[in-house]
Amino acid sequence: MACDDQRPKWDEYFLMLAKLAATRSTCLAFPVGAVIVKNKQVVATGYNGSPSGSVHCTAQGFCYPGLSSCDASTTLPSRAVHAEANAIAQAAKHGISTDGASIYVTLEPCLSCLKLIISTGIKEVFYETSFNSGEKALVRDSFINEGLVTLKQIQLSETIAQKAAQFLLNPTSVARAVGCVPEV
Ligand SMILES: [Zn+2]
Ligand SMILES: [Zn+2]
Repeated sequence: MACDDQRPKWDEYFLMLAKLAATRSTCLAFPVGAVIVKNKQVVATGYNGSPSGSVHCTAQGFCYPGLSSCDASTTLPSRAVHAEANAIAQAAKHGISTDGASIYVTLEPCLSCLKLIISTGIKEVFYETSFNSGEKALVRDSFINEGLVTLKQIQLSETIAQKAAQFLLNPTSVARAVGCVPEV
């Protein structure tokens, strides 16, 4: 077996980082993680949660009183700052440019986040799970057709996911399996 077989591609690497960011999510709706990447370097990360300093949905046990999920209200917006918006906010807070960057997200951006992504100069979106449908998908597609942004759905290969799981479940820095030691 070639030693490279289990090495994640760049897209897989950044999607895995987004998945790890999602583990920090504090909204009860569903966990989302995001990573902004520029020239193959991570410049900011984010996950969905209440605005800095405000009580987390997970801590109070509900998103709004009587509502178990931020998604359940037809009138109120999510209490959570979405993962993409948090990553962009983190970059802004620290004075890091996002112009020409890419973003990796575990969920396709909602229209609010997509507009923010476009206006902040991010050109490429890679996401794991689809989100927009119906009229929202039409609005999304209108932005794509204007050449403002590209969206691509990506997934981790089983091999890479298994390797990452092993790294998480066990000490990582141990000798490689014999098959991955280059022959002399
Ligand atoms: Zn919430
Ligand atoms: Zn959003």
